[in-house]
Amino acid sequence: MTNVVQPAGSIMVIGAHAGDAENMAAAAVLKHTRAGHAATIVHMTLGEAGHPTLAPEVYAEQRKREVEESARLMGGQAIWLPYRDGELPVNDEIKLQVCDLIRQEKPSTILTHWRGSIHKDHVATHEIVRDAIFYAALPAIQRERPVHRVRSVYFPENWEDMDGWRADVYLDVSDVWEDYVSVLRSHEFIRGGISSFRYFDYYTALGTTRGCLGGFEKATALMLQPGAWVRKLRHLPGLEPGHA
Ligand SMILES: [Zn+2]
Repeated sequence: MTNVVQPAGSIMVIGAHAGDAENMAAAAVLKHTRAGHAATIVHMTLGEAGHPTLAPEVYAEQRKREVEESARLMGGQAIWLPYRDGELPVNDEIKLQVCDLIRQEKPSTILTHWRGSIHKDHVATHEIVRDAIFYAALPAIQRERPVHRVRSVYFPENWEDMDGWRADVYLDVSDVWEDYVSVLRSHEFIRGGISSFRYFDYYTALGTTRGCLGGFEKATALMLQPGAWVRKLRHLPGLEPGHA
């Protein structure tokens, strides 16, 4: 055990499309903003391409209002990058852009997409964020702001990112559940009528399912970074010498 007092942690969620961060992580964000931590919600694209009747540039304006409202409900700030839905590139320019955001906001914890996704923008986001976290902590990468080391990375559950995903952590979100549902309702595509996928039903049912498995009324599930579950112990928990 250490006696060093750590500075208050903050959380950053990085989603590929507006609404991804909200679906997969708004409950976790609410949990931590309620506890006094800062939150930044980054949208790599506005997800503006998917509307059946609105032109992308018109829908993009609606998406901006939706992510602003969601961020307000979550008690965090929303940031979106100027990339096009479906065309998210993977290169050093965008990785350094995210590195700069990490150095600017200094999150202790980042939540983003797992790489096993059926959507190319989600896979791209995973790769961009992984390298951006590395660059943010690397002194050799000279940018405007000093290095920042992110302490923990989690991959929240997202119906499109389930290839090889597993639930390592069940987080009790019972006390923020109603607010999570309000965040979901602030997006037209989640409420229904745009996509054939039943987002609202899926994510609200998931909270109950994960709650059953986690032993809470409502829960959200997160995957740890590969290797993060490794423990370095001298004795197994509960079997330490002198343990009653
Ligand atoms: Zn998406």
